[in-house]
Amino acid sequence: MSEKNTKQSLLNLLNEAKAKVLLLEEKIKAESLVIRAAVRKKTSAENELHEKIREMFRLKELLIVEAGLPSELVKWRENIIAKMQKSQRKDITIEQKESLEKEVEQRIQNLRQFCPHNFVLSYDCYEGSYTHDYEDSRYGHRRCVACTYFDQSKSVKENVYETLFESESRLVKRDLRHMNNHGNLNSSDEKKDIWQDLAIFLKLFEESAGRMNIDGLAKIKMKNAS
Ligand SMILES: [Zn+2]
Repeated sequence: MSEKNTKQSLLNLLNEAKAKVLLLEEKIKAESLVIRAAVRKKTSAENELHEKIREMFRLKELLIVEAGLPSELVKWRENIIAKMQKSQRKDITIEQKESLEKEVEQRIQNLRQFCPHNFVLSYDCYEGSYTHDYEDSRYGHRRCVACTYFDQSKSVKENVYETLFESESRLVKRDLRHMNNHGNLNSSDEKKDIWQDLAIFLKLFEESAGRMNIDGLAKIKMKNAS
């Protein structure tokens, strides 16, 4: 083979290779478009899936709200509230007041025996700040809005509870209504609220169905909330 022929055949091979490269680049571009469209479809299906899971979660919670509390429990609760109000009247004797308060306490204890605790407000624990040289950790706690049963977290590190744990039939919502600007809890407000009209509480749980928190978004204002 002459030198000229060798050069020519190399040039031919190079041109063939160039053409093939262009072809493959075009092919890859086209495949990329197909992949991108497929990824878009997958992402859209994933978004739809998350949306449906959220809806499922919300509907499950709404079912618990709809079921409400046993009517017997509601009656007991109303009776306790009536006795509480009576004990605060100015026209009764100290003996009557003390006796009523004792009775209220006893009835609350009884109520707790058969309360399913299915509407629970939750307040996170706090491990404490490492930048402070003083102790600012705190235990979390949960409270049943029907019977005021109180449960403290097992540690300041984890929101784990002995009795008022999450379950299929129980709604547990982080109550952010009483947090002050520093993220601390104004606990006197919390206690003030607890014996209020149950319907208002159930409304709060209904509004927060599908969400973790009861917060400023809740449209219902508590009667005594400052
Ligand atoms: Zn309870």
